[in-house]
Amino acid sequence: MGLFKTRRLSKTYGHGDNRVVALKAADIALPKTGFIGIEGESGSGKSTLLNLLARFEKPSGGVIGFKGKNLAKMNSSQELGYRQHSVGLVFQHYNLLEDKTLLDNIAFPLVLSGVSPKEARAKARNLANGILNENLLDKKPSECSGGEKQRAALLRALIIEPEAIFADEPTGALDEDNAIKVMELLKEASTKRLIVVVSHNHGLLSKYAERILNIASGMVSGGKEKTDPGPLAKGHGSSWWIGEGMREAKRSGRRLLSCFAACLIGFSSLLCSAAFFLGYKPCLHEERIRSLDAGVATVSYERSVSTDDSLLSLVVQERPSFDSVYGALSSLSSFSIENDYSFLLPSSVEFRLSGEAGEAELVPVASLNSKYAQALLNEGSLPNDDLASCLVNEAFVDKYGSDSLGRSLLIQAGGNYTGEGWEKDIDLELSMLIEGVVDEFAFLNSPRIYYSYSAFEEFAASLVMYGGKEKGVTLQELCKNALPTSFYSNYQYRVFVNEEQDLQPFFEILHSYSEEDAPLAFTSRAFLSYTSFADLSSALSSCLTLFLGIELLFVGSVIVLSVLSLFASSRKTMAIMMALGAKKVPVIGCFAIPNFLMIGVAAILSVPLAIGLIKGLNFGFQSFFGLHSLLRLGSGGIYSLIWVALGSVVLIFFLVSFVSLALAFRKLNLSKEMRDE
Ligand code: ADP
Repeated sequence: MGLFKTRRLSKTYGHGDNRVVALKAADIALPKTGFIGIEGESGSGKSTLLNLLARFEKPSGGVIGFKGKNLAKMNSSQELGYRQHSVGLVFQHYNLLEDKTLLDNIAFPLVLSGVSPKEARAKARNLANGILNENLLDKKPSECSGGEKQRAALLRALIIEPEAIFADEPTGALDEDNAIKVMELLKEASTKRLIVVVSHNHGLLSKYAERILNIASGMVSGGKEKTDPGPLAKGHGSSWWIGEGMREAKRSGRRLLSCFAACLIGFSSLLCSAAFFLGYKPCLHEERIRSLDAGVATVSYERSVSTDDSLLSLVVQERPSFDSVYGALSSLSSFSIENDYSFLLPSSVEFRLSGEAGEAELVPVASLNSKYAQALLNEGSLPNDDLASCLVNEAFVDKYGSDSLGRSLLIQAGGNYTGEGWEKDIDLELSMLIEGVVDEFAFLNSPRIYYSYSAFEEFAASLVMYGGKEKGVTLQELCKNALPTSFYSNYQYRVFVNEEQDLQPFFEILHSYSEEDAPLAFTSRAFLSYTSFADLSSALSSCLTLFLGIELLFVGSVIVLSVLSLFASSRKTMAIMMALGAKKVPVIGCFAIPNFLMIGVAAILSVPLAIGLIKGLNFGFQSFFGLHSLLRLGSGGIYSLIWVALGSVVLIFFLVSFVSLALAFRKLNLSKEMRDE
């Protein structure tokens, strides 16, 4: 009964002009025991035959029968069993695992098939007795001679007590003494199993082989044998690969460290950009309405009037009806509509501060001691709601001195005002004490003085004008009753929103009235900056998306490249493990785990690093980037978002790197790797 029988077995490599027929319709029968030699010129097809029998390659045609079963029909677990129990392999260049001792190399196939490392080592030591010196067993292959290495490789093939050993030029790299030692060992082993040896050395082959197959240009000539069927042994798993993974981590320490550094930098910068990406919107949103005049607007009514037969039309500004203004704002919870006295107090005023002249915007707010003013107060205290006190912003302090708080401002305004039946010089000399400094969004801000409009209303009510008949009329009454187009109507109202939560709906109302032909025209400085921030925000959004995409690509490439470089540096070791019967997944695992572990650790550490970076950046760009707000706003929401973002990014990278490793692994050609030196 034979062990192998092939029928019209052939192997072709390449296509078209590059097509090489390495083996042609070989009919071979190999016995269960005995020493079979294979001879032939270089390139005649000897290794091809061996690779087909070892299942490193698949035949292009024909059948290989192993104990009566078609080798091609084995499923993956049967194939694993075939490698782990049925065949042993010996190569010209030994193919030992370089970081293991000779003893561990010999024991390794047993470990792969589930035997405990301790037991496997004991068996290996036993087997090596008399063949390899005891003190050699603890040495690494690089410390041993070729003969010693080849004997260890032979013991590695023998330890699983295989049914066949395939040896490809086992003496090719040895001197004669060592070659004879190896041949003797093979000869001895052939009493219990089939030994197939490919060799150039005709003298040695004819001395030891019982039968020699000759191959010339892929054609085999030699004897035939019968075969008999039998079950294939099954492999079972073990956790050998955990130890291999740790050894791999030690072996590639430097490479892992650089992968770690790259991932740490990559992930934390990714995180910073993601945090910025997630945080800039709420920041801008918060910042763009962060000033005391956010809830102030003037309202007028504009209409076009065409002049006779002319293509030109004039825009006429009139005071709108009180009801229409009230109606427009009715959805707000708290607001007030006042007469506009802007003709008395201009928006830009000159003042004197301890004798020094200055100029600032004069901004009315509904009342100085509102909750909103309190929220923005940075220094000082909220004043009584009268015209004798005011608040200033930080830009004011920057320009007119850090000791502005507590100093008096002298504002002079007014002029000669005439009306129907009266004429009056109004000399407004206001002395205001700076009571507090408000912290508002400083971007593009100029010095500002905030005063109470309700106090100003009272002042206007006290100004009495006398007509020709000496009948008095207050300025307030005058403005209220003025004709819509008269100077004193000033064409408009002032609107004040009193609650912070009304600001957003207020801007929405302003937005809905921003069309050219809207029935009311609202003018609000804060709304203008609000809309320009919306533009800035969408521009920033596109830039950040692009930036984030590029960064993702960059970090992804670094990780994939590091995984592939790991594959490239360990493909030979992987191939040896596979050839000895290791399962694919643990092999990938033991090389990938240290790398993946590094990626994971770098990902976790990048979170505190990124938060530190964001906090650090906070010093320089606080007002513009508002990263402080990101952290402040974030106490919960943003952090969990950061974790979710990081988690999904890391998951993507794990998947990408695992897939790239698996793809690279698919292309691993065992026969080529085992032959390459
Ligand atoms: P031998 O072992 O007798 O020296 P081989 O079996 O290695 O010869 O090769 C037989 C022929 O097949 C040679 O012409 C060789 O170039 C070709 N060959 C072997 N392996 C490959 C391969 N992976 N791809 C293409 N051609 C190959």
